Amino acid sequence: MFIPDGYGILEVICGPMFSGKSEELIRRIRRAKIGKQKVVVFKPAIDDRYDEECICSHDGNNVEGISIVNAEEILKYIDEDTKVIGIDEVQFIEGNTQDVIKALVDQGKRVICAGLDMDFKGEPFGCVPKLLAVADIVTKLTAVCMTCSHPANLTQRLVDGKPAKYHDPLIVIGAQESYEARCRKCHSVPKE
Ligand code: ADP
Ligand code: MG
Ligand code: ZN
Repeated sequence: MFIPDGYGILEVICGPMFSGKSEELIRRIRRAKIGKQKVVVFKPAIDDRYDEECICSHDGNNVEGISIVNAEEILKYIDEDTKVIGIDEVQFIEGNTQDVIKALVDQGKRVICAGLDMDFKGEPFGCVPKLLAVADIVTKLTAVCMTCSHPANLTQRLVDGKPAKYHDPLIVIGAQESYEARCRKCHSVPKE
């Protein structure tokens, strides 16, 4: 898409775990770099699953990224020449994420955010629903349901291989925790 210089734009890539959000973010960042645009990419410091300095996808693609805790930190790393700002796992960034992003877009930056639209309960996750509301372009991806192979738009949380309950603590001491992509029919969150 052609965007005249100085016009900001907010793109949000959302969907469940394994839907290819990071892959799509990495693809857009790579293309911006091919276009010789000044690009900076961020991720929450808590997301150190693969590498401390990389935005990584489940299939091993990656681009360099800066770990931050608060959205306000983004401002330290960008300048007038920065054209594109990527943010992965945006639901975990603390601070006034929406306000910081809105200010960047108002300054004429292209901001591309990727994140979970829903938590394991199927409820709107953090700042993402608000970003979706104000975005110029929304891309909602699906994964493949690990139970029935249909398109999956939800993330199943498993504790010791069983569906996590609605009121389970976010960390269950001593338990093996895992996540799977699931469709609406196969997704389960027992209330009790
Ligand atoms: P996200 O950032 O949304 O979690 P990634 O971009 O990291 O997703 O990973 C997407 C990749 O994950 C796919 O290209 C595929 O190789 C792999 N993958 C593993 N499990 C699934 C699944 N259930 N559905 C789709 N892709 C999957
Ligand atoms: Mg990801
Ligand atoms: Zn299913």
